[in-house]
Amino acid sequence: YALYHAKKRHRGGAVLFNTDHKDKINLDARIESVLKQANLERELSLVFQPIVNVSDHSILGFEALARWASPTLGEVSPARFIPVAERAGIIGELTKTLLRKALAAATCWDAHLRLAFNLSAHDLNSNESALAILSVVERSGFDPKRLDLEITETAFAHDFAQITHSVEMLRRLGCGISLDDFGTGYSSLTRLHALPLTKFKIDRSFVANLHTKPASYKIVKSLLALSADMGLDCVIEGVETKEELQALKALGGTSVQGYLFSPPLPEDEARYLAAQHTHRYSQIAV
Ligand code: C2E
Ligand code: MG
Ligand code: MG
Ligand code: MG
Repeated sequence: YALYHAKKRHRGGAVLFNTDHKDKINLDARIESVLKQANLERELSLVFQPIVNVSDHSILGFEALARWASPTLGEVSPARFIPVAERAGIIGELTKTLLRKALAAATCWDAHLRLAFNLSAHDLNSNESALAILSVVERSGFDPKRLDLEITETAFAHDFAQITHSVEMLRRLGCGISLDDFGTGYSSLTRLHALPLTKFKIDRSFVANLHTKPASYKIVKSLLALSADMGLDCVIEGVETKEELQALKALGGTSVQGYLFSPPLPEDEARYLAAQHTHRYSQIAV
């Protein structure tokens, strides 16, 4: 029933999957069975969202974000299908396919630009899965020093010793390691110091209207101070308005990502921007 509606809605546009709990479970089961039989190479793609330098509005790099166009289900959001793939034990296959495609796309970019790529905690849960990532990076020929692998604090709920070991392997290869959605999860200061992180990404929930929300403002301020203390870079996610950007700039934020500058872009549009060494978002004056 839920699927029927999801499909029907899809013909008219986006699939909303706006269903109750029981429908959600049924739909997840359906997504799982379709995903298991999907042609990942053909159906998975990536869009790329610019990460922008606050001081001159130049592009520092792009974050790759997964998209799944299923012939049966239509467009399914990564927030929906990534957790399904994790539970179904097939996330490793998805990660490898997506990482290969992201690296291939980024190989065409100007050499000063970085690629950010999201890993699942499951990708770091064993030496084998971490080695699989390592080998995709090595075979791509892309300089690992230009790659930032993003993990979320949900990884801390897994075997922390193994996660740390996997992250260390990827660091040794030269990859940067970013803590995504920072501030929303399971971080303890001990664990933040134990992981060889290179970057924080402050979650967009703290950025929305921070100029009028004292609590959000104070949280962003302390997260920026913490990253500076630890000697880490910090990307602020989900910047949608000039007012937010202004407030972030005053707080000393240096890199931002969000709809104010650009939504995630198809590969060819990202490639076009990435080829222009001097591209600036100069129309956004602050
Ligand atoms: P994320 O890594 O935190 O990515 C940021 C999400 O925020 C993206 O949603 C992006 O489109 C959205 N976003 C960017 N700027 C704005 C803004 O200004 N306002 C608002 N409201 N949203 C903004 P998306 O693409 O739907 O991805 C959702 C999540 O799915 C990602 O969150 C990430 O956790 C996961 N994901 C996406 N691609 C992959 C992937 O290839 N592998 C894995 N493991 N997870 C992925
Ligand atoms: Mg991310
Ligand atoms: Mg995030
Ligand atoms: Mg997220």
